[in-house]
Order: sequence, then structure tokens, then C-alpha cells
Amino acid sequence: MPEVMLAGRTIPYVLVRNPRSRHVRMSLTPDGLRVSAPMRLPEHEIDRAVRSKERWLLRHHELLEPAVPDPLIDGQMLPFLDGELELGIRQAARGSVRLRAEEGRLAVAAPDTDAVRPLVERAYRQAARGWFGLMCDMYAQRMGVQFTSIGIRDPRTRWGSCSARGALSFSWRLMMAPERVAEYVVVHEMAHLVHLDHSPAFWNLVRRLSPDHDIDRVWLRDHGGWLSRAPGASARPPLT
Ligand SMILES: [Zn+2]
Repeated sequence: MPEVMLAGRTIPYVLVRNPRSRHVRMSLTPDGLRVSAPMRLPEHEIDRAVRSKERWLLRHHELLEPAVPDPLIDGQMLPFLDGELELGIRQAARGSVRLRAEEGRLAVAAPDTDAVRPLVERAYRQAARGWFGLMCDMYAQRMGVQFTSIGIRDPRTRWGSCSARGALSFSWRLMMAPERVAEYVVVHEMAHLVHLDHSPAFWNLVRRLSPDHDIDRVWLRDHGGWLSRAPGASARPPLT
């Protein structure tokens, strides 16, 4: 994967050679930064073009910076797909966490405030394993495709990935996105089981499965920074 050094950080990107493109273009996708370039443009010129868009990249720096999250407090409402969870925190010598989605409660027992966030994350990761498992099974059946594994991760600049061997991975943070956005990322990555590129054929397949996915892409593009710091004090930005 090519990468560019910017403000002391290494930012990997997906490079796509496009016979119809005359300029270098950049976009943020669920897979991270994507650079589209003319067929024969030398790599050092692509690198220079990406650097020249430093301002644009830094405007999306939330996706690149380590997130500084707000403290979590007792009674706070946390986004959970299209629902919410009321966070209950009590002190206990040993940390534990319980997520009851049907009751809309996330109960954390923690020895101190620093222990709360990792426990909340643990509960979200566990919920993500279940939810992405169900969604991937459903789409595998619908699309007639197979995957080899599902990993739940926390990558800073991408929300999902699909390897050539059919290994899918998703960010647990998508459990805090609107449900349709998380589902779009599933569709996007599973469409890579058929097309390992972002070709017109790939996007046609995505459109068939998720006709209004522009709404989801715009939300991820505009609010990926919020998602990478969530859960925090600010409410989830709405879909537009
Ligand atoms: Zn992709």
C-alpha cells in the first residue's frame, strides 16, 4: 500500500489508476484514503499531488489524529445503532460490564474513572461481533458469496476491509453509527468479495444492494471524525 508522510504521520492510501482521469483525485471511503491517478503518472508526482492537498487532508485530521475522547459519566446516553444505551457506572473493586440492548442499558462496574472507557469499548466490541456476524451471514446468502473470517478492529482511517483471501474486518465504532451506515459498510466490504477494486462494476453491485448509499458515504465522510472519538459528550450528527 502506498503512503504519504504528512505532519509527522504516515497515511496509507489506496491507489487506483484510472485511464479516464487527467488529474489526481482524493476521497475518503470506508477503506480509508483513496487516490485516483492517470494511468502513466509517475509515483513521485502522485506523491507530490497528495502532499499539495495537505490542507484538505488536515481538515479531516480527526481521522488521522489519535482521538482525545470526552470523559464518560453516569446516566449519559450512548448511541447504539438506531437505539441508545443509558450508561450506568458504579464503583467496584473489579471491572465488569453488561450490555442489555433490549433494556437500553449499559452497566459498568469500574474501580476508577479511567477503567470505564475500556470496559464500554469491550461491550461494544462484543456487540459488534454479534451484529456484523449476523449481517455478513445475511448478505453472504443474498449475494451468493463466501467469506473466511470476520475481525473486529479499531483502525483510525478505515471503517472496514476485505482481503483477497476473503477475510472481512470492521471497526467496532460502527456500532455507534446509524444502522444503515454500518450496513452500508458491510455491503461495501462484501462487494469486494466479488470485485477487489472500486471499478464501475463494483459500484453497480453496491448500488443494487444499497440504492441510497450516497447518504451513508456522505455521513461517514463528514462525521468520521466524530465517530473516531465517540462515545463522547456531543450527540450523534444526523443523516442528511
Ligand atoms: Zn472499498
